[in-house]
Amino acid sequence: MNETAEERSAGADNLPDNLPDDVPDDVPDDVPDDLPDDLMDKVVRLCRHRGFIFPSAEIYGGFRSTYDYGPLGVNMLRNVKEAWWRSMVQLRDDVVGLDAAILGPPAVWEASGHLATFTDPLVDCRNCHERWRADKIDGVCPNCGSSDLTEAREFHLMFKTHAGPVEDEGHVAYLRPETAQGMFTNFANVLGTTRKKPPFGIAQVGKSFRNEITPQNFVFRTREFEQMEMEYFVSPAESQQWFEYWVEQRMAWYLDLGIPPERLRLRHHDPDELSHYSRGTADVEFLFPWGWDELEGIANRGDYDLTAHATASGESLDYFDPQTNERYTPHVIEPAAGATRTMMAFLLAAYSEDEIGGEARTVLRLHWRLAPYQVAVLPLSKKDTLEPTARRVLGLLQPHFMCDHDVTQSIGRRYRRQDEIGTPWCVTIDFDSLEDDAVTVRDRDSTEQVRVPIDGLLAELRRRTGSE
Ligand code: ATP
Repeated sequence: MNETAEERSAGADNLPDNLPDDVPDDVPDDVPDDLPDDLMDKVVRLCRHRGFIFPSAEIYGGFRSTYDYGPLGVNMLRNVKEAWWRSMVQLRDDVVGLDAAILGPPAVWEASGHLATFTDPLVDCRNCHERWRADKIDGVCPNCGSSDLTEAREFHLMFKTHAGPVEDEGHVAYLRPETAQGMFTNFANVLGTTRKKPPFGIAQVGKSFRNEITPQNFVFRTREFEQMEMEYFVSPAESQQWFEYWVEQRMAWYLDLGIPPERLRLRHHDPDELSHYSRGTADVEFLFPWGWDELEGIANRGDYDLTAHATASGESLDYFDPQTNERYTPHVIEPAAGATRTMMAFLLAAYSEDEIGGEARTVLRLHWRLAPYQVAVLPLSKKDTLEPTARRVLGLLQPHFMCDHDVTQSIGRRYRRQDEIGTPWCVTIDFDSLEDDAVTVRDRDSTEQVRVPIDGLLAELRRRTGSE
């Protein structure tokens, strides 16, 4: 299926000008040479233009640093979360899932320490009046360069609201700033209703809310975001070994899904950097266009959380081991990742520009598990004669893959469009298909095309995913 030069360059047309105002202009020196200088800008534009991520409430001028996930973005975000769930829950027999409430009573957040300590140090620039997180700026205003900053004061990050019609102190509720506390408050429920015993984990994926002082860098830091967290409960003697195990597992997850090793690193926290509850923390960091930054924190939280909730609630959160006759408060290893932030890292890592037959193209080299569509079904012409076969192919593939079906524009433009949104395989139905009952499968990365009988198509695509 040949395409014209014009069709090849059609991918980046009509890009919008109204980009979010929090995209950084500077690209630091340590970004590898083969990445486009304006990578961040290009990915943000692609997200907006192709329907991955829209500024929220855009028709009203947007709502700062709040985003909506469009038809492609919602597929991809679901895939990121699904890939995490598959690795953390489905492929294991020692981790179970949970979906806890987002709204919570003050008692939970008092016991967890969040009401007292979940703050960031805020400073104002006396010159330009911008506000910053003191721990992120080295004493100089990133906006105007002035070092005339106010004293840092602690700013509380939790969103407070009222449950019910009365807005008094007795009705205060909080939106959770992390999913983790649901696992601790349900520890006894899970222990009592499953046959799990330490070492075992409880996993949760869901929204969290933080009233960030400086939300920035597109969906890297937003006030509403999604997390993927797991609390792994172990005997105290085994906590260090499980900490090391989870650090290794989590690094492997990113690499398996296509993050290049040179753009991923592990950073152990110095002792003076550790949170009050932590006995050891390592961050998984990705090389973003502005430098290395966190994707996930893996912490050895000791028995801090279960002890705090047991003390505050008066319920025992110990585990009694009938084999050793030992009673102990389990220690917790927590891999805590951001789904929305990780999706952004996968997009940045996948973005590339190459040349096919001397013509430039934009391609998202996403792992097939993460791509918004795995397969695009493309009848060569809009003519009705090809439609029944296209429908039959769709019916065959849809139960197994997320499929796009596109009949408009020339085949070259349609390939280009699918490359740009990361679809690994295009299946083209042409007039020969009516004779030989076969289709052409085109590979996104190599652009290689092979003829495959329709009755062997599913097996061929499964073979390509590595799951025959
Ligand atoms: P930071 O230091 O960047 O504020 P943190 O160390 O407080 O983050 P954690 O509390 O460890 O973050 O949260 C676990 C993960 O949740 C982070 O690694 C990140 O991927 C994600 N996350 C945290 N805050 C945000 C946010 N405001 N927007 C998007 N993702 C976030």
